[in-house]
Amino acid sequence: MDLMEYQGKELFRAHDVPTTPRGEIAETPERAEELARGFAVPVMVKAQVLTGGRGKAGGVRYCADADAAREAAEAILGLDIKGHTTTKVLVEPASDIAEEYYLSVLHDRVSKGYKVIASVEGGVDIEEVNRTSPERVVKADLDPTKPFALDEARAILAQAALPDDVLAAAADLLVRLYGAFVTSDATLLEINPLIRTGDDRVIALDSKVTIDSAALFRQPDLAELAEGRSGHPLEVAAAEKGLQYVKLDGDVGVMGNGAGLVMSTLDVVAQAGGRAANFLDAGGGASAESMAEGIAFVLSDPDVDVMLINIFGGITRCDDVARGVLGAIDELGGLDRPLVVRLDGTNAEEGRRLLDEADLADLIPAAKMNDAAAQAVELAHKA
Ligand code: GDP
Ligand code: MG
Repeated sequence: MDLMEYQGKELFRAHDVPTTPRGEIAETPERAEELARGFAVPVMVKAQVLTGGRGKAGGVRYCADADAAREAAEAILGLDIKGHTTTKVLVEPASDIAEEYYLSVLHDRVSKGYKVIASVEGGVDIEEVNRTSPERVVKADLDPTKPFALDEARAILAQAALPDDVLAAAADLLVRLYGAFVTSDATLLEINPLIRTGDDRVIALDSKVTIDSAALFRQPDLAELAEGRSGHPLEVAAAEKGLQYVKLDGDVGVMGNGAGLVMSTLDVVAQAGGRAANFLDAGGGASAESMAEGIAFVLSDPDVDVMLINIFGGITRCDDVARGVLGAIDELGGLDRPLVVRLDGTNAEEGRRLLDEADLADLIPAAKMNDAAAQAVELAHKA
């Protein structure tokens, strides 16, 4: 679960990680103007969306006065940033930047530990810096079972070539950031840029926070903070229904039983030249009922031109799945888009026979995954 910048900064403040002066959220240009007037200093107006690169997209503006803040909010509210529509801006007192650095703490799946990444190249795409000048990006492994000491933090930042006179402040910030990371069950805390202010303080100018969703049960404050704001509205709705669903940006709706099979289905759709609009994992023991719910949910996405269901029957019997599919179509009052259903495994022939017998123009049974994907993609291209 990702937090927006302003929520991430609240998390930082709760753990005494120095950050920008507290701002406030505006959902209208008038409110942004009013807030700026209250701050009575130059302000930043910043799009609050769950994606980075807001600056480049025109979603971050420096405003010398309240009128400028209103104009900035007018321009930024409604702005599309990588597919995310901006409905909120953060208005906060502008900081005076002397230097920009990069700092993050994250879970490292490879080492199965924690990692700190630090660089003097801040405010830019760190992946790009890592490609062009990897020596400018320091990556340090941390042992999760040991406390993280101040001198260790300092050594990492010194290696990253942060200037001597900010090392003490930056090391102090890093240790606090690490504390925040551990106690909030984060998988990523990223500050880009971490800045040195004109008066030589070190503060987080931006925040990117990802919390381990599986740990939210013991992070009630965070669960509440991000309520209803984590990701695409369809993903939020899916989470409420307990569905394993991810929204993507293509036009083929995908459903399968089991995470591995669903991932393979996405691969074959891509190989056939198509793009998935979403995917839903109906789970290993998919029942007729869960099939019906899943189909209705995948088709509720208007981006879906064709739906592809890929089932390998084990304990799940394909004739049950077929009945579930037919029941779902009934409940929906018929199909308004093609539905390709690949059934293999237990009772697959019986399942395909049931689908054939239903004799519906938009219902296309298939036996092989590649054929099913090819048909779905072809139909999507025609749509
Ligand atoms: P991102 O583009 O989504 O990563 O948004 P950031 O919060 O990192 O802001 C992008 C850039 O805007 C920063 O790298 C800064 O150069 C600039 N910026 C953001 N906040 C301030 C501020 O308070 N003062 C000044 N002078 N520049 C800022
Ligand atoms: Mg940034």
